[in-house]
Amino acid sequence: MKIVMKFGGVSVADGESMRNVGKIVERFRAEGNDVVVVTSAMFNVTNSLLDAATRAGKGQREHVLKFVEDTRARHIQSARTAMSDKNVLERTIQAVESKCDDLKNILLGIAHIGELTPRSKDFVVGFGERFSAPILQGVLEDQGMKAKALTGGEAGIITDDHFGWAEPLMNVTTLEVRQVIDPLVEKGVVPVVGGFIAATQDGTHTTLGRGGSDFTASIIGAAIRADEVWVWKDVEGLMTANPAIVKDARMIDRISFSEAMELAHFGAQVIHPKALESAGRFQLPFRVKSLSNADGPGTLIVKEVKVKDGNVVKAITNIDDVDLITVSGASMVGTPRLAARVLEILTDEDIDVLMISQSSSEESITLAIPKTDGSKAQNALELSLLGSKQVREVSIEAGLSILAVVGAGMRGTPGVAARVFGTMAANDVNIRAIAQGSSELNISFIIRKQDAPKAITALHADFKLGECA
Ligand code: ASP
Ligand code: MG
Repeated sequence: MKIVMKFGGVSVADGESMRNVGKIVERFRAEGNDVVVVTSAMFNVTNSLLDAATRAGKGQREHVLKFVEDTRARHIQSARTAMSDKNVLERTIQAVESKCDDLKNILLGIAHIGELTPRSKDFVVGFGERFSAPILQGVLEDQGMKAKALTGGEAGIITDDHFGWAEPLMNVTTLEVRQVIDPLVEKGVVPVVGGFIAATQDGTHTTLGRGGSDFTASIIGAAIRADEVWVWKDVEGLMTANPAIVKDARMIDRISFSEAMELAHFGAQVIHPKALESAGRFQLPFRVKSLSNADGPGTLIVKEVKVKDGNVVKAITNIDDVDLITVSGASMVGTPRLAARVLEILTDEDIDVLMISQSSSEESITLAIPKTDGSKAQNALELSLLGSKQVREVSIEAGLSILAVVGAGMRGTPGVAARVFGTMAANDVNIRAIAQGSSELNISFIIRKQDAPKAITALHADFKLGECA
């Protein structure tokens, strides 16, 4: 098989973990597979680069200098732990050193001007992967493999110049990636591609958005027509519910891209939605594999999964700490643009709306917002809408959770909602708001946070999710 293996920040958090990555790669190559590696930055490095870039923009030179030296030390220390061959280690350290010097110059340049542009920010935050990929190359070489570290740009991922959220130009990218990666694989070399980073056609550095390494894996997998993309995680796979809440939660063997996307939206983000979306488009199977159980099959995510009889629900997921904001006013009736206006105000404030529902009398619009943004959302809406006569009040209620019941089998099966809400009634759980997408892939609703564990447990039991499918 041709497999793209993606390792996230946790799986390359230190030298020891990186060695383990080497063992996993070696093991599946020994079974006759061709492997292409995509790696994230070491755990938390991207966050600290982002912070350093911001401080550089404020002219904080001292912080920048200290940050670069800490970062240098961490990566070199990890390389030392991860490999023993002197020559390989020496070469790896040199690669890290020279990149550290580049980073220092860039950050000092930014601090000198005192301005951080989106373009320079993208350059800086991508350094995490510019460090981790060469170290992983060294690890693989140290374990007897041939390997080559590449940035996303070097691997052929060409994007537009929408910094911070660049879009790959798939036609050129597909051709370029194939031209770079295929010959390496044919020569028995393991390409180690730094995820998340890419470049425009003229070579300017870009990034694919936070968490973008999954997306890189999917782009490369599609280009080289991989059989599967394996995303290695510190979890077993996708679960029927949070195992910390539901004792008999089970690993899901197979799930469709659209179901996985619903789960990702409602709190169970194991794979980046952009990666799922593109993998779905290219019909590229994804597999969530467990770092602690490499033998296990994990969860396979594919285009379509046959729904077995009676198996309407696949998983139950929850987002805790949600605020409910209600925009109300009798004269909202017949003012169709208000919902659009409300969403526009929240988008401008960069606030994520988790769920929206509107009463049919059009007297109110209810929105679920992460608690961290609740009062910011309320303020923004009050400022913009209270003067408008249509709106009487913007109220907020805290201490809530969203529950989402997800499954493709719900489509066209009458009675699922009745069963869900019947179970809630039987368990004395009050429902504050409800939404169902017309895709019928999920029913989501809002309850008090303190009711969430009992609600999830009851639904899990009622839909028999603990029993083998
Ligand atoms: N290192 C990047 C981030 O932290 C990309 C990734 O890990 O997927 O966002
Ligand atoms: Mg991630």
